[in-house]
Amino acid sequence: MTTAYRIAVLAGDGIGPEITEVTLNVLRAIAPRFNLDFEFVPALIGGCAIDAVGEPLPAATLESCRQSDAVLLAAIGGTKWDTLPRPLRPETGLLKLRAGLGLFANLRPAKILPQLINASSLKPEVVAGVDLMVVRELTGGIYFGQPRGIFTTESGEARGVNTMAYTATEVDRIGQVAFETARKRQRKLCSVDKANVLEVSQLWRDRLTALSAEYPDVELTHLYVDNAAMQLVRSPKQFDTIVTGNLFGDILSDIAAMLTGSIGMLPSASLGASGPGVFEPVHGSAPDIAGQDKANPLAMVLSAAMMLRYGLNQPAAATAIEQATLAVLEQGYRTSDLMTEGCILVGCQAMGEQLIAQL
Ligand code: ATP
Ligand code: MG
Repeated sequence: MTTAYRIAVLAGDGIGPEITEVTLNVLRAIAPRFNLDFEFVPALIGGCAIDAVGEPLPAATLESCRQSDAVLLAAIGGTKWDTLPRPLRPETGLLKLRAGLGLFANLRPAKILPQLINASSLKPEVVAGVDLMVVRELTGGIYFGQPRGIFTTESGEARGVNTMAYTATEVDRIGQVAFETARKRQRKLCSVDKANVLEVSQLWRDRLTALSAEYPDVELTHLYVDNAAMQLVRSPKQFDTIVTGNLFGDILSDIAAMLTGSIGMLPSASLGASGPGVFEPVHGSAPDIAGQDKANPLAMVLSAAMMLRYGLNQPAAATAIEQATLAVLEQGYRTSDLMTEGCILVGCQAMGEQLIAQL
């Protein structure tokens, strides 16, 4: 029996359309083998939406995403739109899309591929075998807490204020996503907080500990964020799944990304309680190489694999895409961002063709 999926496709700006074409072709190639039937529904977001209809997230786009099983997003933005006022910027479209779909969980894997170990900024013996996932809370914490602003004290001095706040409900829902994610991996979950200093972190820690009773098969540990940052650089192999709040997650996921050393390889997923998730590469629209067939499509292809695993519950199809990616790298094919001596330089399109040949 065939399973049909409606996928909203937001190709966006810069290298977005090129890497999207490769990604959709990969999904088309894999569909029959796993009895999947994809309907790809394109919609506008970011700079191309501003040019076409005057706003970065048209209502029709949000509506189309809501009616889909998942959203595949490439990249948005570019210098052309940088001088617009904030509400009209491409990035505002992305924030509104996340808010509009209630995406409170951001999943960012960092995996060292043996074929690319020399691309890392750390020593090969430190990063070999690293395969971790950061689960970051995305819609709460200090980025959204009230009060916030720059106020004036009684003595007339300016005082900047932000508030780190989490309700038990907010911690529980990100905690559940994290435990479920750990279950699909090595069943080790490390919760990162600053409970020795912050009350909000004490609540976070208490809720995670209480929740762990429902996941006896997952091993839960806790680390203070300063220690976690150090451990990530010193011995990243010890981690499987990490769960943390918005601010700590922002910082730790960038550290984790740099372990792998190659921005063109990093996928991400943003998930809500129900409804479609958004699957997108970590990198931006790379205007410097747009339209030149130089972009590395693998971050978006791997985002499509995350869509299959975490959005559509098709783990076998996800694994097939990931393995094809490895095989193509194993054969020595590299886009220019990954190129090292002895490898075979290919463009975006040719990389896609190699992937499909592999599948
Ligand atoms: P944003 O603010 O959207 O994150 P940015 O300017 O910070 O954008 P990117 O657009 O990711 O960052 O580009 C950073 C650098 O990495 C650029 O030199 C770009 O060419 C390169 N780059 C980004 N993505 C890719 C890719 N898929 N393949 C090859 N090079 C890439
Ligand atoms: Mg950036």
